[in-house]
Amino acid sequence: MRIPIRDVTPNTVYAEIIGWVHEVRDLGGLTFFLIRDRTGIIQVTVSKKKAASSVIEAARDISRESVVRVAGGVRAIDKAPGGREISPDEIEVISEAGSPLPLDVVEKVPAEMDTRIDARFMDVRKPRVSAIFFVRNAAMHAISDFLFTRGFINITTPKIVAAATEGGTELFPIAYFEKEAFLNQSPQLYKQMMMAAGFEKVFEIGPIFRAEEHNTTRHLNEATSIDIEVSFADHNDVMEILEEIIAAVYRNVADTCGEPLAHLGIDPDVPKTPFPRITYAEALEIANRRVEEDIRFGDDLGTAAEKAIGDEMGEHYFITDWPTAIKPYYAMPYEHDPEISKAFDLMHPRMELASGAQRVHQHNLLVRQIRSKGLSPESFEFYLKPFRYGMPPHAGWGLGAERLVMTMLDLGNIREAVLFPRDRHRITP
Ligand code: ATP
Ligand code: MG
Repeated sequence: MRIPIRDVTPNTVYAEIIGWVHEVRDLGGLTFFLIRDRTGIIQVTVSKKKAASSVIEAARDISRESVVRVAGGVRAIDKAPGGREISPDEIEVISEAGSPLPLDVVEKVPAEMDTRIDARFMDVRKPRVSAIFFVRNAAMHAISDFLFTRGFINITTPKIVAAATEGGTELFPIAYFEKEAFLNQSPQLYKQMMMAAGFEKVFEIGPIFRAEEHNTTRHLNEATSIDIEVSFADHNDVMEILEEIIAAVYRNVADTCGEPLAHLGIDPDVPKTPFPRITYAEALEIANRRVEEDIRFGDDLGTAAEKAIGDEMGEHYFITDWPTAIKPYYAMPYEHDPEISKAFDLMHPRMELASGAQRVHQHNLLVRQIRSKGLSPESFEFYLKPFRYGMPPHAGWGLGAERLVMTMLDLGNIREAVLFPRDRHRITP
């Protein structure tokens, strides 16, 4: 029976493994193979003097990245990876890899991002690349564990929609029979409707589609959003959930991803909670002090400002109390100063990770705010209706999964954190 390569130890007597041929080195009398599966790498040594002729025959022209089955005695050997090797008495090529390979898995020459994504299946065979996705898996596991444990209900909302969440032009139109339809940019309106349905705490982890023309290292046209919405809660309550979830993710990655982190050569510190909170006005003050720009109240924080503030803060932090004018209509304005709203962004020193707010739950105020954004309440009737029949106060946020992984692992490009990136120029593979 095949066993995972990690489970073959220097004390194992006999092992049968199946994996990909990572490297072949022919030293005349001895041929060394490194065989890899998702759990690790093992050396297989064929001695032309000692091995059976069937083994020598099979070993002769095994190409790199073929899938092979190897069975044989195991012995401890200091110099080999994991301190053990197999001396095979059986080798079988199960699936041969053609040559040349589309990509070098052993990566003596680092390939361009485009070449890598074109042959992503093979790129992900690199332990340093699969490590990113094992970490992402641990992060997503921690998030759903955290939310299920606290009584959140997992929901799935439609991605084919008739109206924009926030208006604007960032929507992909799709051919939907005789109707106009779009890919949804956010589950926002639907998760809020589930507050009217009485679900109290919901979460959704799913795709969001943004037709922004940008082609940056931190934007995708299809991203994964982790969204929550909570009834009888305000912006402070959901900020606490957010910082706790970030810490839980880092803890789970530290606890379960020793090997992937070693491949990546990184050991992220678990961020301390609570995260510092600064208001938008304070953020402006920092940005204006540190960069040669005159950002006025009501301006968006550009990339340079975000970086300057991030440099000063040096850790995860929240920006709170945003001008109502630059946050979406569903963000709740303060009663004492409606120019400012109970909206927040969670920031990593490098970039924004999440946006959230206490929401407007009063129908008439919501209609006014939709109008003040130049949008028409009529096109939001399906969303507004629940607000007329008992909508509890509520708050929530959306957190980008790729940016979370990217910042945790200090990746230079968000495309590293997604298996099959969708950007301005790419819709395959
Ligand atoms: P930015 O200003 O950085 O473009 P945003 O404010 O438009 O982001 P939101 O609509 O607030 O984004 O979405 C919430 C979160 O979802 C963001 O903080 C981010 O982590 C993630 N996100 C949004 N758009 C993208 C995208 N195009 N690519 C990757 N992640 C995204
Ligand atoms: Mg945002």
